[in-house]
Amino acid sequence: MIYAANFKTNHTRKSTENYIEDLQRKLVDKNEEDRVFIFPPLTALDAYEGDFIIGAQNAYPVESGAYTGEVGVEQLAEFNINTILIGHSERRDILGESQEAVAKKFAFFKEQGFEIIYCIGESLEIREQGLEAVIEHLVSQFEGIDTTYENFMVAYEPIWAIGTGRTASVEEITMTHDALKKVVDKPLLYGGSVKGANIAQIAAIDNVDGVLVGGASLKTETFLELVLH
Ligand code: PEP
Repeated sequence: MIYAANFKTNHTRKSTENYIEDLQRKLVDKNEEDRVFIFPPLTALDAYEGDFIIGAQNAYPVESGAYTGEVGVEQLAEFNINTILIGHSERRDILGESQEAVAKKFAFFKEQGFEIIYCIGESLEIREQGLEAVIEHLVSQFEGIDTTYENFMVAYEPIWAIGTGRTASVEEITMTHDALKKVVDKPLLYGGSVKGANIAQIAAIDNVDGVLVGGASLKTETFLELVLH
């Protein structure tokens, strides 16, 4: 299993340091083959060492240059970061990243050899139209994306389940992941209100290879409930 923690705009540099120190101590109990990713805010990036991978929640698709407020590969390289989240619904919907911009970012970081967690997901309105509409929408989010790139995985995150406490049902996840696996044969994470109370059920689904976690990743205790379940 893959366990990815997305801190979003939470935690400081200091609290991230404390978190990672605590996590590392307790990760000695994790299954050897499981992979843990932490995506802290950009201001908390550092060259941490341990049984986890630190990634960037976002970056601009440039080496360096005149892009006020952005960071590029040069700034990430300082901390040996070569993992990135691309296409998160908050970036698409709140920050206005178009599919074209997301695809450009994907192509750039692919060229750089980054490991990419590529996020897709549908709104409640689309979910209510049924599975066919959902899959059609999710497939459209692969427009411009090289799905043959060997160093990426997909995170399916229904927008209506993110931060809402409302998790997709086992049936919804199963049917969506089964359909997605036929489109992209890559590790497939589920994201959307994953927590200690539902991890066993979600992790047991055949085509769920891992989870991307927001709220429950913010404290080591609740994140470890997932990793060590
Ligand atoms: C996320 O935003 O990637 C996410 C899954 O958030 P939460 O776990 O809080 O729903």
